[in-house]
Amino acid sequence: MQRVSRQSAVYWALLAASFGVALAASWTFGAQIDNDAYDWMSRLYQPPAWQPESALLAIDEMSLNAYGGLRGLRKPLAEALERISAASPKAVAVDVILTDASDPETDARLAAAMGATRHLVLACQLLPDYSAWEDPLPLFAEHAEALGHVHVEQPDQLDSVGRSLPLEEFTSRVRRWALSLEAYRVSRGARILESPTDLDVGGRLIPASRADRRLMRIRYAPSSMHIPRVSLKDLLSDPGRASEFSGKVVFAGVTAQGVAKDWLFTPYSAGTPMVGVEIHANAFETIAQGLFITDAPPSAVLAFSLLLVLAIGLTYSRFTGRAANGLAVGILAIAHVTPYWLFTHRIVFSFCTPVSAAWLSLITAGAYQLLVVRRSLRKSEAETDRYRQTIHFVTHEMRTPLTAIQGSSELMGRYTLPEEKRKQIVELINAESKRLGRMIEMFLSMERLSAGQVELKKESFSAGELMAGCVARALPLAERKQIRILTEAAPQDVFLTGDRELMEYAFYNLLTNAIKYSPPRTQVTLAATRKREHAYISVEDQGIGMDQKEVKKIFQKFYRTKRAEQSGEAGTGIGLSIVEQIVIQHSGTIEVMSRPGEGSRFTMVLPAPVSAVLAGEN
Ligand code: ADP
Repeated sequence: MQRVSRQSAVYWALLAASFGVALAASWTFGAQIDNDAYDWMSRLYQPPAWQPESALLAIDEMSLNAYGGLRGLRKPLAEALERISAASPKAVAVDVILTDASDPETDARLAAAMGATRHLVLACQLLPDYSAWEDPLPLFAEHAEALGHVHVEQPDQLDSVGRSLPLEEFTSRVRRWALSLEAYRVSRGARILESPTDLDVGGRLIPASRADRRLMRIRYAPSSMHIPRVSLKDLLSDPGRASEFSGKVVFAGVTAQGVAKDWLFTPYSAGTPMVGVEIHANAFETIAQGLFITDAPPSAVLAFSLLLVLAIGLTYSRFTGRAANGLAVGILAIAHVTPYWLFTHRIVFSFCTPVSAAWLSLITAGAYQLLVVRRSLRKSEAETDRYRQTIHFVTHEMRTPLTAIQGSSELMGRYTLPEEKRKQIVELINAESKRLGRMIEMFLSMERLSAGQVELKKESFSAGELMAGCVARALPLAERKQIRILTEAAPQDVFLTGDRELMEYAFYNLLTNAIKYSPPRTQVTLAATRKREHAYISVEDQGIGMDQKEVKKIFQKFYRTKRAEQSGEAGTGIGLSIVEQIVIQHSGTIEVMSRPGEGSRFTMVLPAPVSAVLAGEN
């Protein structure tokens, strides 16, 4: 249970870490990915075309060539304004810088044309250091109903795509609204009412928060639709074209790519930039159509991403295999599709954060599950393997005494045997059935010991007696291999308290192991010493030994070292696990020192209070 909860704590900690990594990554690299996703979604989902309310008076290459470049522009511009005014536009926004004086007569003509234009908005811009506004000359400005700034969002370093525009810009003293907003306002004859979160222009509510420089995302006209445009030269050479401006909000500006410096890419423009005046006309359309796109708050993005991670975490902790993978794919799909679905509802939602959180947590959870499943599979395979070996051994071992018993009893039943022979056979049957009984007992006690079901007797006995009894039993085994058993320390002085039978089992096991895993003609040394409140009972051999890795595993049930298996000695790998249980039940520990090829020393460290010595002496 505890293990399971530790495992799941590790699992959730890993998921939390992957969430953290996803957040950090999207904060670091996410902006450009989100921008690209925004552009892509803008192309994929475009609103239906609408009837544009604006029109462009384009000062294009052709016009510039015809009128001698920017310098010669004021006269034709004056003429164009006169023609446009005659067509009764709703408003006229002139995005041409008019900060310098030119020839007075021309300027006066342009000023007069401006004076005759209703709802005129002129462009202004901030000096690069934001210290002041660069306004049109007063003789022009006085005819304007408003001055509007022409700044589009400073596109970040990453790309040159104009996605939004600040509706207000400041110097330290003077605030100006955007040209597009002013054009809308004057066309409606309204006022701009402000709140911290939006602007209200004649009932049109524009979501643009003050905290965010009143940034407004521009909804560019869909590819299926074009804002009508008339070239300056065409208008002047064909007066009939002025009618195209009737009832429209006119944006006049330089569209010649080489001359206009204020061009930017748009989410739609595959490589072709859009000039400033057209961007302003698009911003105007955004306001006029009320097609605002707002950004979801970062807290919503965070909460959604966290939800995805939790969903993936739960998926992999509750389900496995196909079910888990199927659900995870579904969650991934939700992560990918949600930003797009929200975009179609005019909400911009980060793409990078939820998607990277979902992917990273999926990889983490999937990998973790794979690892855990593999590990437990390998473990259970190894256990089954060892268990099979044991069953094999048990049946094999048990068959030997059984065959002896069967054979002997048959012999006795079939023939009349001399008394001495009969006695011999009865003794054999007796000894073999006892052996069988002991074997069964051993397996049962292993199960009971590990289940903690054995009640320990509390007897007092000397280590010397215990050891001597075991040595006597093990002697035939040692003699067969010509192994000498040497008892070193004075064990009669060391008294123990506990279950004598179990302790004898433990010690006998250590002793027979030492004999089993030693080559012939070596020596096994036994010792029992007492230090303070502890007895140390050790068995040392000059046998095959083990390395440190093996030593760590020998107390596991059914584990046997390779060297032990190669030695040809039969074994189950259970003995030491019982020994350990017995020692633990006696509040003791067991220490092992071993070196491959040199030998091993097993020491049981058991509590031996002084009172036990007295009890033993009595
Ligand atoms: P087994 O029936 O295999 O002897 P044990 O549980 O008694 O089972 O021992 C587990 C394993 O520990 C043995 O198979 C052997 O690999 C190793 N081992 C135990 N005692 C010794 C020893 N004295 N020298 C070397 N290896 C030993």
